[in-house]
Amino acid sequence: MIYLDNSATTKPWKSVLETYTQVSEKYFANPSSLHPLGAEAERLLMQARKQTAELLKVAPEEVIFTSGATEGNNIAIQGAVNANKGRGRHIITTAIEHPSVLRTMNHLEERGFEVTYLFPDKEGRVKASQVAEKVRKDTILVSVMHVNNETGSIQPIKEIGKVLTNHSKVLFHVDNVQGIGKVPLNIKNAGIDLLTISGHKFHGVKGSGVLFAKRNINLVPLYFGGTQERALRAGTESTAGAAALAKALRMTLDREPENRNMKNRLEKLASELSKYNEIIINSPVLRAPHILNFSVIGRKPESIVSALAEKNIYVSTTSACSSKDSEESIVLKAMGLPEERTTSSLRISLSLDTTDKEISDFLKSWKEIYYEVLKVGG
Ligand code: PMP
Repeated sequence: MIYLDNSATTKPWKSVLETYTQVSEKYFANPSSLHPLGAEAERLLMQARKQTAELLKVAPEEVIFTSGATEGNNIAIQGAVNANKGRGRHIITTAIEHPSVLRTMNHLEERGFEVTYLFPDKEGRVKASQVAEKVRKDTILVSVMHVNNETGSIQPIKEIGKVLTNHSKVLFHVDNVQGIGKVPLNIKNAGIDLLTISGHKFHGVKGSGVLFAKRNINLVPLYFGGTQERALRAGTESTAGAAALAKALRMTLDREPENRNMKNRLEKLASELSKYNEIIINSPVLRAPHILNFSVIGRKPESIVSALAEKNIYVSTTSACSSKDSEESIVLKAMGLPEERTTSSLRISLSLDTTDKEISDFLKSWKEIYYEVLKVGG
């Protein structure tokens, strides 16, 4: 099997799964229980929080464990605007956010908030100056992703944070799901108030995530219950999920120097695929080391995904979250690309475990599919 769909999800590392099962077995008690077993679970949860905080270079109380980034983005965005709607109802975001942000924005529009969507340039990048132009007295939140999940384009988070230092009451939320461990970002130096990551994108387990929420930020909870996770994520905590996330995050960040090799593998893919006449690379030059998006003009991307799957090779059309809903990539459309490209795109995404051999085997299989199965130009 050659798995090249790591932006959709990664395979959990064995040692991370071991942590998950060991903690599940030994520290199964409810961390809120007063008896010693509860106290032990609470201690372990605190340890995971402390480790995660150290890795993210934030304070432990700023780490809120969630079930993933969809939940984290919703708690952050809805929580922030509900807490601040007395001051204004204007939000700024981009047209290329993940559906967990875009659909939350649509919901807020229905509730009377005004949302300004920034469009990226042909390189898939918005500019900090666009934020500066659009920010107003009644703006309460700016939400911009760090790395785009379809193209790997990198947004100027630090520069946007700088623009917002002149607007101290505007909260800044960053979806860093595709950026963590891939493109360095110092949360504290970038003026970020809220940031989300998801465990299953860096070899952790599904159903684990972190919302960084600055210490003094006031958020209205999405739902109500106990006081766990600053009362922002009520419900019995997943001690094992938190411990597994901390471990996966540490292992991922320890291996950051290997991103250079990942980048080289991606460059090889890009240069080999570019040799085919019908292929146009959509990912910008300034991109994360793990995502390559390209169009095969005149071909249905689903038929290529199927042909590759028959050879045990797994890639995506656009992104996993939107590929079932629409034939056109809204991200590529927002970049101003023509329909022949927005409807024919494929995404290959690597992980730290992708090998040189997998890349060369992929390219061999691609050649066979391209000429034999698809009969494109051959
Ligand atoms: N944001 C981005 C950029 C993503 O790529 C994803 C996952 N596809 C999410 C948010 C949602 O994450 P989760 O699956 O943890 O809800």
